[in-house]
Amino acid sequence: MSIVTRFAPSPTGYLHLGHAASALTGWRRAREAGGRYLLRIEDIDATRCRPEYTTAIVEDLAWLGLDWDGDIRIQSDHMAEYRAALDALDAMGLLYPCFCTRAEITAALGAPHGYDAPYPGICRHLGRSASADRITQGDPFALRLRMDVAIRQAGVLRCHEVGEGWIAADPAPLGDVVLARKDIPASYHLCVTHDDAVQGVTLVTRGADLRAATPIHVLLQRLMGWPVPAYAHHALLTDPAGRRLAKRDRAATLRDLRASGMTQADIKQIISCRIGRIASL
Ligand code: GLU
Repeated sequence: MSIVTRFAPSPTGYLHLGHAASALTGWRRAREAGGRYLLRIEDIDATRCRPEYTTAIVEDLAWLGLDWDGDIRIQSDHMAEYRAALDALDAMGLLYPCFCTRAEITAALGAPHGYDAPYPGICRHLGRSASADRITQGDPFALRLRMDVAIRQAGVLRCHEVGEGWIAADPAPLGDVVLARKDIPASYHLCVTHDDAVQGVTLVTRGADLRAATPIHVLLQRLMGWPVPAYAHHALLTDPAGRRLAKRDRAATLRDLRASGMTQADIKQIISCRIGRIASL
């Protein structure tokens, strides 16, 4: 079977070396295998995403010498599809509305807790009519996944991590994750798994920072009857002080590196030195 990989950046800033590592890894894997390489713009968050960053992503990838197959998929053009996926999960009894503010969640968790602490379940037992009343009153709400019920329905989960083989995927520690945000009727987890499925992605190549989210994606794939792709999470690039590169680090953007006279060969060389030969991560 021929492989299909993808690069799926969010246009919230300029691409940096870390993005280049992800983009090149997927591209090499696809091209070396005679497969397909897709580009998807993950722009559901209209407050943080900007069209000029999408334009810059396309320019930067072209400068790096990367080409992709077919049209670019723009997530914000597909909100009705995400709504349909939510409806399907709701029909399985797996979603509930959550009216909590961030402050309420923090207070319920009790300080100090990491940002990623699982939701403490405040709205889980609200009951249909109380929830319906609050929705009628116009209270903003997110939709959360009933994690325990979802896991029971899905059964034992595994996925193939390239270089490691089949590994267990346990989403339980992540708790009742948000699948539709208060401000956006969708979420990263929902859209990324939906789109990997509809685009026929067989190998997800991305940074190790997203590895912790993979069990949720495998869970959603199983619940929705979508194929489970293989995963290849690559090491993250760090700055000289060992900190992870972020969009705020302007010095590491591809535009600035290009403006400073670096060539695409230099960029590939830096990435290879830091995380190993790009295709064999
Ligand atoms: N859109 C995500 C990001 O820019 C990446 C999604 C993925 O590769 O799964 O961090």
